[in-house]
Amino acid sequence: MATSSKMTNLMRLLAPGLIVLMAGVSPSHAANVESMRLWAAPDHARLVFDLSGATHANVFSLANPDRLVIDLDESHLDTDASTLPLEGSAIEAVRTGVRDGGGLRVVLELNRVVEPRHFVLPPNDQYGHRLVVDLEYPGESAVENPIDPIEAMIRDQEMMAQRSNTQAQVQAQVPGSEASPAVPAPASVEVQPAQPHPQRDIIIAIDPGHGGEDPGAIGPGGTREKDVVLDIARKLAADVNGTPGFKAVLIRDGDYYIGLRQRTQLAREQKADFFVSVHADAFTSPRPEGSSVYALSQRGATSETAQWLADSENRADLIGGVDGNLSLRDKDQVLRGVLLDLTMTATLNDSLSIGGQVLEQLGRINRLHKSRVEQAGFMVLKSPDIPSLLVEVGFISNPGEERRLRDPVHQQGLANAIFSGLRAHFERNPPPASLLAWQRDHQRRPTGNEYRIQSGDTLSSIAVRHGVPVGQLRQVNDLNGDVIRVGQVLRIPNS
Ligand SMILES: [Zn+2]
Repeated sequence: MATSSKMTNLMRLLAPGLIVLMAGVSPSHAANVESMRLWAAPDHARLVFDLSGATHANVFSLANPDRLVIDLDESHLDTDASTLPLEGSAIEAVRTGVRDGGGLRVVLELNRVVEPRHFVLPPNDQYGHRLVVDLEYPGESAVENPIDPIEAMIRDQEMMAQRSNTQAQVQAQVPGSEASPAVPAPASVEVQPAQPHPQRDIIIAIDPGHGGEDPGAIGPGGTREKDVVLDIARKLAADVNGTPGFKAVLIRDGDYYIGLRQRTQLAREQKADFFVSVHADAFTSPRPEGSSVYALSQRGATSETAQWLADSENRADLIGGVDGNLSLRDKDQVLRGVLLDLTMTATLNDSLSIGGQVLEQLGRINRLHKSRVEQAGFMVLKSPDIPSLLVEVGFISNPGEERRLRDPVHQQGLANAIFSGLRAHFERNPPPASLLAWQRDHQRRPTGNEYRIQSGDTLSSIAVRHGVPVGQLRQVNDLNGDVIRVGQVLRIPNS
């Protein structure tokens, strides 16, 4: 103890001198490029230069043909740029060379117009000095199949109608709100009536955690969380898309990173009815195992409410509808809080209900780490208007579970369990104007299961997935051969 504090004192005495000395020796020392890493997302590509030290970069565009030039002072390349995985990115080729007068020049040959952005990052736990170059694609969505604009408009109308109902209820509940001149009567709010029963799909936003530079947890065998959760999320999306009345939006569909707030923002843009984030747990000891399901905690929600209120001027469309008809900007602060609380509480109740169903289904195929839905202040769950869950499918730090998490059959089982849980919830509580609501109102409950054929499916792959003999599948659906078409709905007999 005494020795170390003496050392610290010594350091304190020496440190300022050292800094001056070092600064005096070399104000700009060589920073070589040790490696380059590239991630291609639907709306951008990120190129990271791992550097041996801090340096200055000059980045500029050239046209005809489109190129991006990255000049690094006093640097040279210690890596092979030709091995970068360019596929799916805006980069056609990478050329490197030495500039006149020294320094490294990297030229990216581009196959499309990009908006470049660059910044440097200091060392962290995992990486040293980095130069990050983002190539953003103007007008591109970060999701693969963005929602049709007309469908988005119809859904906005429906949501506004629902919110106008909620608002009317709240105004009836808040004491004195009718008399308050600050609060306009509900009649002054013009809302287009929703389309009668468009039989819309219930949209499930599926968010595979981590990605790109962020591998998530890493198992003892080297399995990366970002990879297994993407596999499971894709299987879950196939389940969702294969079921009439449901549609999946994959928030991440590749190896790239998306900010936590952007993930819920994307779900909101895609008019999702539900958001599920898929993760794998890790612990310092190899023993813990099993699945857990999280919803947002009230405590986290409460503090987020305050922040959300502060931000609401900039994004009134969240609660008010896109064209601002129901904007709360001009309303009484108290009423605004009550409205938001109500939305938040309703959303949280849905999250907990769906979470319970998901947990029950997961418990049938996997050990449960926690036997009830846990609540915590996960950033990715902090969306006041979309019911959200975070599913930790298992412990990647447990060697046995790590192996299972890589197994496609187990991954499919986890996907099936998650979907069965949320499907059970939505069959009991179908959103207005959804196909499921229509089926309920017309007593058209499907007997057994139905499956909507997706591209790439074959009759035998569908049979295998549902554990039904091909012959029986043919018989129940009056099929003669193996010819099926995308979008066709098959009845799946109970096996
Ligand atoms: Zn995670």
